[in-house]
Amino acid sequence: MTFFPDKRILVTGGAGFIGSHLCERLLAQGQEILCVDNFFTGRRQNVDHLVEHPRFEVLRHDITFPLFVEVDQIYNLACPASPIHYQLDPVQTTKTSVLGAVNMLGLAKRLHIPILQASTSEVYGDPSVHPQTESYWGNVNPIGPRSCYDEGKRCAETLFFDYHRQAQVAIKVVRIFNTYGPRMHPQDGRVVSNFIMQALNNEPITIYGSGLQTRSFCYVDDLVSGLIRMMATTPETVGPINLGNPHEFTMLGLAEMVIRLTGSKSPIVHKPLPHDDPRQRKPDISSAQKHLGWAPTIELEEGLLKTISYFDGLLREGIREKIALCG
Ligand code: NAD
Ligand code: UDP
Ligand code: UDP
Repeated sequence: MTFFPDKRILVTGGAGFIGSHLCERLLAQGQEILCVDNFFTGRRQNVDHLVEHPRFEVLRHDITFPLFVEVDQIYNLACPASPIHYQLDPVQTTKTSVLGAVNMLGLAKRLHIPILQASTSEVYGDPSVHPQTESYWGNVNPIGPRSCYDEGKRCAETLFFDYHRQAQVAIKVVRIFNTYGPRMHPQDGRVVSNFIMQALNNEPITIYGSGLQTRSFCYVDDLVSGLIRMMATTPETVGPINLGNPHEFTMLGLAEMVIRLTGSKSPIVHKPLPHDDPRQRKPDISSAQKHLGWAPTIELEEGLLKTISYFDGLLREGIREKIALCG
């Protein structure tokens, strides 16, 4: 008997951290996946375990160029997410958000299919409203080093809503807050990966500034559940909807937790605070609770233990490779 998948789903940025978990979950649900990625920050290893699957296909493609394929849904996740990566080529970062959105929206318009945009809490900038509700318009520097990402994502939201109003495209916009978990890039400079790698190597934990700035960290499995629930809503639910874990931590508190969970001997050192670093970040998730029936279930300590185990495995593999090379 031939098996017909439920839907053909395009995931842009599918070889990235969040994208690879999304592809995995959608495959497990019986869908057919087209993973499109230019491998700028994503890695083949993230989807290595999926490539032999009969319902999984990878296409190397940059979404700043048009893409003509036939699918039933689009999750648009393509965009470098860590500050050091998105600041490497800021013009390309803006192009990915803006031209990429135009192309993916054009594709959704031609096919009359729903498209979900992975927007970000960065649209709130350094927020003066706390916790952040979707109605807050944000406090964003338009000309700083973070602007390529923040303003690119803001413009993408504008395009999504204009395609919705002008061309009746079925849009779904979610604003993702700091997300962490296995398959984060170990050198992406984000705080969770940095602290864990430093702790496992017994190297100094680098706190930028006083460490009293706050973030709220969502485990990747929770986030993926929220993305899928958003896609499954009625056409009226267009968002934007915040997705994140509302439990807020200082970076100092995070460093202490990582040191405790890894049993590390790392000292804490302070380094200068990056330009325009937001002082606080905590999502108001009442809209996600109301419209998606969604709230995160994995608390920071539990999620960190899973992430530590992943990075520990990477380090052990690295050591094995070195031993093999020497031998
Ligand atoms: P990531 O860097 O691991 O993944 C992004 C993926 O997009 C990578 O595989 C990269 O190679 C690919 N990509 C980049 N530019 C591309 C282009 N022009 N064409 C095709 N592919 C391209 O980052 P992530 O953490 O998995 O983030 C995924 C999405 O979620 C991003 O859009 C990001 O802005 C958003 N987001 C993430 C977080 C977070 O904390 N991780 C928070 C808010 C929003
Ligand atoms: N596009 C695409 N795939 C499609 C349909 C459109 O990549 O299947 C691109 C197309 O190249 C265009 C963009 O999406 O540049 C916007 O499409 P739209 O139809 O909104 O605009 P137009 O083609 O009229 O410029
Ligand atoms: N940060 C830190 N040490 C690090 C990396 C980051 O103290 O080694 C801080 C950073 O200044 C910011 C917070 O941790 O205040 C979160 O940084 P990240 O780059 O992970 O995400 P974002 O700033 O985009 O929320």
